[in-house]
Formats: sequence, C-alpha cells, structure tokens
Amino acid sequence: MNSKTIAKPPSHRPPVLVIGSSNTDLILRAARLPNPGETILGGEFARAAGGKGANQAVAAARAGGAVTLIARLGRDAYGDEALAGFVAAGIDVERVVRDRRHPSGVALILVGRGGENSIAVASGANDHLAPADVRAAQAAFRRARAVLLQLETPLATVAASAALARAAGTPVVLNPAPARPLPARLLRLVYLLTPNEHEAEQLTGVAVKDEAAAARAAGDLLARGVQNVIITLGARGALVADAAGRRLIPGLKVKAVDTTGAGDVFNGAVAVALAEGRPLLDAARFANAAAAISVTRRGAQPSAPTRREILAALAAGKVSAVSGVRRRTPSV
Ligand code: ADP
Repeated sequence: MNSKTIAKPPSHRPPVLVIGSSNTDLILRAARLPNPGETILGGEFARAAGGKGANQAVAAARAGGAVTLIARLGRDAYGDEALAGFVAAGIDVERVVRDRRHPSGVALILVGRGGENSIAVASGANDHLAPADVRAAQAAFRRARAVLLQLETPLATVAASAALARAAGTPVVLNPAPARPLPARLLRLVYLLTPNEHEAEQLTGVAVKDEAAAARAAGDLLARGVQNVIITLGARGALVADAAGRRLIPGLKVKAVDTTGAGDVFNGAVAVALAEGRPLLDAARFANAAAAISVTRRGAQPSAPTRREILAALAAGKVSAVSGVRRRTPSV
C-alpha cells in the first residue's frame, strides 16, 4: 500500500470507488501478424496503461469524481509506473496493494497494418485481488456514492464488493466485461449493469443486432434481478432500461478515430453522474457524451475527456434530446 503521496481529493467531488484490474499494454505494430514459429522484423513498439479497472478509474477522475481505486500491482517497474499514473490522475491509491509474489498484469498486443490484432494477457497480481483486500476498505465503501466493478478480477472479489456496497447503501455499477456467466445472487445486488452488445448476447443468448433485440436482452437481465440496465451500442449510442421502460440515447455524430476504451469511459462517467445524484437517463446522456468524445482521440486512458469537455458537449446540444423521459431518483 502507498498512501504517502496523496492529497485527499476536494470534498465537492462525488466519491466513486472503483475495484478492478490494472495492466500495462505492450503494443507492437507490425506489417502483419506473425504465424506460429515465425519472426517478423520492422515493427513499432509502444507502451500504454490499461486494464478495465484502471481505465474506468481514470475516466471517472477526469469526469469529476473523487476516485478511490482498489487494485493489485506487482512490486515491479510496471507497477511503479501504473501507480504514478493513478497519482497523476488524482486517484486515491491508499487501497492499491503491491503484491510481493505476483507481477503486475501485462497485455501483449500485436497489431497488423489492417488493424487486425492478437492479444494475450498475463493477469498476474490482478488474479490475486482478494475479498480480504476489499473488506479492508470498509470506510471507502461507506464514503462512496457509487461503486464501479468489472470482471477482470476474481468473481469472489466482485461478489464481496457488491455485498459490501449493498450493506453500505451504495449503488453498484457492474460492467460485465469480459463477459462470463454471473450468479443470480450477484445480479440481485446490482443497481446498474452495463454490457456492450457482445456481452449482452453472451449473458442472455439474445443476438443484439438492433434496438428491439437490445430491449429484449435488457428485459431478460431485469427479470434476473438487476435494477437497471444500459446496453452500450457503439456509434448507435446506448439503450437504457428500467422498470419504467426502455429509452435509446442516440450516439453523438463524431469522427471516430479509435474506439479503444469507449466502454471504459462510458462506465467511469456514468458512475460519476450517478454518484452526484443524477437520474439514470441524465447519467446515461453524460456518459454517452463522454464516450463519444473519447472515440475522437487515440488510446484508452489518454482519450478520456475532462468534466468541462463533457459538459460543453452536452451544452452545445451535440447530443439529441431524449423525449418522453420520466425522471426517477436512483435508489439502491
Ligand atoms: P465497448 O467499448 O465496450 O465495445 P461500445 O462500442 O458499445 O463499448 O461503446 C461504448 C459507448 O461509446 C457507446 O455507448 C457510445 O456512447 C460511445 N461510442 C462508441 N463508438 C462510438 C462512435 N463511433 N460514435 C459515437 N459514440 C460512440
């Protein structure tokens, strides 16, 4: 743990607790992907901070949240670098554990000239983020106004986090990525589930090809005990579903240059908006604007917009108004 370097975030920022993975992405761009056993010369190398937990924490901090991150890093140079990145983003890292036995998570990413890729991930310390790590942070659960989870850390830790959040009366946002079967008792603890089209299909078996299919998949998830669902639909925007009905928030018309991490920006921003007490549809519009801005820029973490940028995009009316919206106050 490392708490020395952190100034506490200003109190007017809504407190968001993010629990999840942190990786270092090692990216090699080559003329094409090598075949097994083959060596290709002439690539270009880059390194980037990644992992869904880290990406969403950084996006939430940029979007105006007072973010605390619970994660595990190795005691290695990649871990040092990741930690420095969190501190630079203003994230409270008091609950980031340095694992003595396991290395920091690494993703090896090969990209061919046509954009095709091949990725292998060594989760390392992320696989050892334990229920005890989250139970040691009870005060952070009580302080938070939203808890944001994904599925790149052990399911037992995700479940323990959701239970602690529920006990503290704090809404749980679960981004079910990468998709895996989820126990009913976990789904019943979730205030908001945020799959993309593929994850929604994997969770429900409904092929999410259009808005009607998205509405069916969302209905299935609500029937399993989740309170609210937002299915992100790429350039088409996001479908918001709750007991009151289904609404499509249309995507912003933007020139997309890199959609990497769009879902992570959406989730970080939606958690901040809920933490500050916005109704679900408002929160979805805020996140939809944040994610649209992010696809106009390269990279995952560097592309996350500031709160000022998000509010300016909303104020400029770049997001189509949502009609017939019934506003609801979130309740856990
Ligand atoms: P993921 O990154 O998990 O695959 P999506 O592709 O559904 O998730 O994108 C998440 C969100 O990012 C969308 O709901 C939308 O708000 C925004 N988004 C993604 N692609 C675009 C795009 N081309 N134009 C505008 N907004 C986009």
